[in-house]
Amino acid sequence: MAASRGAVDELLQVDDLLCVLRRRPVRRVSLRVGRVGGAPKSELGALSSVVVTAPARMRESELRRFIRDNRGWVDRCLTEERRRDLEVPRLEWSAEQAAWAKTRLAALVPGLIGTWTQRLDLPQPTWTARQMRTRWGSCTPATRRIRLSLELARYDEAYIEYVVVHELVHLRVHNHGVEFQSMMSAALPSWRRLRAALGHPRADMLAVGGRDAEVGRISRSANHDLAQPDQN
Ligand SMILES: [Zn+2]
Repeated sequence: MAASRGAVDELLQVDDLLCVLRRRPVRRVSLRVGRVGGAPKSELGALSSVVVTAPARMRESELRRFIRDNRGWVDRCLTEERRRDLEVPRLEWSAEQAAWAKTRLAALVPGLIGTWTQRLDLPQPTWTARQMRTRWGSCTPATRRIRLSLELARYDEAYIEYVVVHELVHLRVHNHGVEFQSMMSAALPSWRRLRAALGHPRADMLAVGGRDAEVGRISRSANHDLAQPDQN
């Protein structure tokens, strides 16, 4: 998204709304809200996803009026944008995404199992990763088998560690009773917070690449565009 000749983006504050103002050889002023495609790929884009594209000579007072007139619409777009930012986008799990998730888990889980079986003095389990509908992980103590959800691969390592430790503790304690809880607290003091977070996952818990499982980055973020109606 190269800026056209001599065009410099600047910031325009209108009441409590910060906008990126782009002067361009256009005939009409337009407003856009949306990080993907909407915001310039510059430092300014990180500050605001509200972009006003305006004719070079349009007066700032006119611009301000236009933005104020459309403030309700802008606020609705921003609310929608924030909601989307927090939601974990669902994956349809293509073969490539599953491969990505397996690779990430394979890079992390053996080390975590090694560390925690040693620390907690537990036997070595075998582990597999697969798609699981309702759980992050499971453990069959009799066969020392741990299963992890592929979905878990999308999250920061702290969450993967919590689930691994949880399932490892089940090798010794088969329920979630007092003994389980005290073992968890001794191992990972923050385990309750991690468990609660995984109960209501949010996009800010995702690892780099976890939003789209790295491949097939189809953005579902809509751009909201609003152009001033032609006045002739
Ligand atoms: Zn459990």
